[in-house]
Amino acid sequence: QAKTSGRARCVFFSVELREKLQRKLQLEQDLRAAPDLGQLSVAYQPIVELRTNETVGVEALARWLHPVLGTVPPVEFIPLAEQSDLINTIGAYVMSEATREVAGRRRVDGRQLQLAVNISARQTDDPGLVEHVRDALAVSGFPAQSLCVEITESTLMNDPEATGRTLDALRRLGVRLAIDDFGTGYSSLAQLQRLPLDILKIGQPFVAELGSSTDAEAIVTSIIAMGHATGLTVVAEGVETPEQLDVLARLGCDQAQGYFLGRPGHADDLTVEVSPDPVRAVDVR
Ligand code: C2E
Ligand code: MG
Ligand code: MG
Ligand code: MG
Repeated sequence: QAKTSGRARCVFFSVELREKLQRKLQLEQDLRAAPDLGQLSVAYQPIVELRTNETVGVEALARWLHPVLGTVPPVEFIPLAEQSDLINTIGAYVMSEATREVAGRRRVDGRQLQLAVNISARQTDDPGLVEHVRDALAVSGFPAQSLCVEITESTLMNDPEATGRTLDALRRLGVRLAIDDFGTGYSSLAQLQRLPLDILKIGQPFVAELGSSTDAEAIVTSIIAMGHATGLTVVAEGVETPEQLDVLARLGCDQAQGYFLGRPGHADDLTVEVSPDPVRAVDVR
């Protein structure tokens, strides 16, 4: 049966595949020029302390506005950038821009906002990374203690030794470290144990199931207990409903972020005190 329909399906797939491939090739090519053409920007998503309901920090998220294709999501262009040294250029841009913008906000309103910046696996191989973070902090005047670098579990798969050295060097600057999307990757607890971590971010898939799955609640309970037992601050990602927020608060989770608390928005909106009102911040996803 597969054989008889195989031919038609093959044609169908080849058209779709070709379009996908063409888009990928175009994005790959255009992404090279994007930083210089000013097409990149940084969006900021609030991170809320659950005990006080206060915005204590923001996560910097890269944005690319393509002149023809419009907004290209990070899940599409970050992997492309990771195939080459381009990720270092983009990473450096986000680090400089975010420390500058958030430092500026802190000076204006006196709030001691924390800043989280994502780092790709490939960036931890870059010998210039630590240097650049140090420079960005010096130029912006942003305090190292208020900066947190987020890495995913896949980062650890690369070259654990080299990654460990880079992370140690970042930590010596005073920067804090977060493990992003915890529980969704392939790293072992043994690998994680060796990292100088400060923050654990519970992956969105677990948070999404809160309120509808008792297993999810049990898993999140365990993650929070493990995090606290090892001295980590625990942050929940992807909170979309008041029910999820209630469960997380009840379970003693320290901080949370998600569309329900605030969408990623422009730097100008950083002064807006974000309350649990899903339509507040400008959506620049
Ligand atoms: P991430 O670091 O885990 O960031 C959180 C992602 O979840 C963001 O997606 C954010 O917009 C989205 N999000 C926040 N709240 C919710 C929610 O309530 N529901 C849902 N469904 N999603 C929510 P975004 O901005 O599209 O970024 C996707 C990923 O791309 C990031 O995941 C991060 O891994 C990567 N990325 C983004 N910016 C950078 C960057 O500057 N450098 C590197 N290396 N990676 C980046
Ligand atoms: Mg992150
Ligand atoms: Mg995450
Ligand atoms: Mg991630």
